[in-house]
Amino acid sequence: MNIYDLSRGSHHKHIAIGLGLLVIAMLILKGGAGGTVFSSWRGESQAAAEPGLVGEAAQVGQTGQGDTLIAPPGISSDEPWGNPVVAPLVVMTQGYGVGSHAPAESWGAIDLAVDGDGDGSADPAGSWGAPVRATMSGIVRVSADTWPAGNHIWVIGEGYKTGYAHLQSFAVQDGQYVERGTVIGTVGSSGSSSGPHLDYQVWHNEVNQNPLNYHPLP
Ligand SMILES: [Zn+2]
Repeated sequence: MNIYDLSRGSHHKHIAIGLGLLVIAMLILKGGAGGTVFSSWRGESQAAAEPGLVGEAAQVGQTGQGDTLIAPPGISSDEPWGNPVVAPLVVMTQGYGVGSHAPAESWGAIDLAVDGDGDGSADPAGSWGAPVRATMSGIVRVSADTWPAGNHIWVIGEGYKTGYAHLQSFAVQDGQYVERGTVIGTVGSSGSSSGPHLDYQVWHNEVNQNPLNYHPLP
């Protein structure tokens, strides 16, 4: 072996290391792109976990179950209306456009959980497994185990779509047509979530809307 051979061996080693780094970089990039394919939910890059019910759940508003999904005349069936969480007392644990819901144009949503024992704040025992209803009619898009939305459902109509994140289970199948009021799943803590709650989104023509304008908490 002469010096020429040694230097050539070293040169090959550098090429091998370079190729190795390229492969690693491609795998990382592929992983990132794979995450995007995984979910149709907006906001793959959202890092912070949804606050859920760790600690004292902030009560921003509450409502009774009642007939909140019965829309007044003039509200068509494929517009969102009412509260998607079925329970006697529903508490909003994170408001629109704040915390993990900011900025609103990308992350706008409200978090809803159940006050099961009537003490005025949300609690996990009441929230786990509470039925979740579609607030509008449309075609269901089901995505399991996405990040950060966990088990996620879109209900998609002509102009509106509504999003339901962190579900425990699904009660509908991908592609199914549902009416407003149809139970589509149950409240859970799947995905980036620190406790059982529903993250509820409203979009109109791909523009994020404040769900509070659609009477989830009358
Ligand atoms: Zn949320």
